[in-house]
Amino acid sequence: MSRASTPVIDPVELTRDLIRIPSVTPADEGAMGVLERHLTALGFHCRRLAFEGPGGEGVHARIENLYARRGTASPNLCFAGHTDVVPTGPSEQWSSQPFTAEVKDGVLYGRGAVDMKGGIAAWVAAVSQVIAEGEPEGSLSFLITGDEEGPALHGTKRVVETLAAEGEVIDACVVGEPSSSQHLGDMIKVGRRGSLNTWITVTGKQGHVAYPERAANPAPVIARLMSRLNDHVLDDGYEGFPPSNLEITTIDIGNPATNIIPAEAKARLNIRFNPSHTGDGLIDWLNREAGAIQGETGLQITLDHLCSGEAFLTEPGVFVAAVQDAVEAVAGRRPEASTTGGTSDARFIRALCPVLELGLVGQTMHQIDERVPTAELETLTAVYRRVIETVFERL
Ligand SMILES: [Zn+2]
Repeated sequence: MSRASTPVIDPVELTRDLIRIPSVTPADEGAMGVLERHLTALGFHCRRLAFEGPGGEGVHARIENLYARRGTASPNLCFAGHTDVVPTGPSEQWSSQPFTAEVKDGVLYGRGAVDMKGGIAAWVAAVSQVIAEGEPEGSLSFLITGDEEGPALHGTKRVVETLAAEGEVIDACVVGEPSSSQHLGDMIKVGRRGSLNTWITVTGKQGHVAYPERAANPAPVIARLMSRLNDHVLDDGYEGFPPSNLEITTIDIGNPATNIIPAEAKARLNIRFNPSHTGDGLIDWLNREAGAIQGETGLQITLDHLCSGEAFLTEPGVFVAAVQDAVEAVAGRRPEASTTGGTSDARFIRALCPVLELGLVGQTMHQIDERVPTAELETLTAVYRRVIETVFERL
């Protein structure tokens, strides 16, 4: 690939091209193909990784993913993102149609503008500029999924498993999620709390309230268990994270009668946890507590758990500092390294390498009139370019 033949890509036009494809999760509609064509022209070796299986609500899904790499030298700096978008909501409430990618007064409207077709386009544009300057001192790669906004079962998780099994080395990864809070570059995300949901069922025996000896009431048993779980202090926090928190989200018996002891009581809880815990460790604790109450009361207690992501933290170090320095040099502000927010695909990538999130201002993500000033796409491109250069200098 000679330098003269590689195109320099306009981030605004590429964002618009991507927005015009209605890739509402899990549909691809050709979004991955647009990226693949651009990356191939830039000298990337592109691999489509399609995975299928039960998706949201058990409906069979086939998900398009892409891993593209340019060069074999190390370090290998990866950009991760997703081409799928959330549904538009009522399109008549939009100022312009969500998939026409209209620019009005310097602002680009459309579903995916900030989350995160704009971020993908900016990194592609930055890469095209870096390559136009000369051969980079390392490899560049893209890990793009079409399954981030949905159940995320056949996307980044499976691509990461495939790459790990093949021994592919990625040295650092930037996820292009809209991490900025108020102004471009004011925040990067360097970790996330983990999340565990637990469903609890206490089984008793129905009977007349006047004859409690003939029944077994699950209501006081679930009350005792929930109270004990709620009173337990999980930890005092972890470097950069608030204390882990257990929240009881519902307690249900739904007994309409005044003279019946109910047969069953259900409850549900969510734990947002910092890196002082693992999902399995918390599940063991919950099972032990339930087992103890079951022993005390004789009523059967069953628990079902779903850990949707482990907590992680990318420790301060060369990579995080390089990104912070690059952002500060271009955007004029040093980003706060934050661990706030929900989960992202960074939770899967952490198994491969240090990972952080850096992208546009997230204010309008998932909303009606999702939008981005075109000037911000240009600035993000300059930020990303500087990130690539700085990481290649220091890693
Ligand atoms: Zn996103």
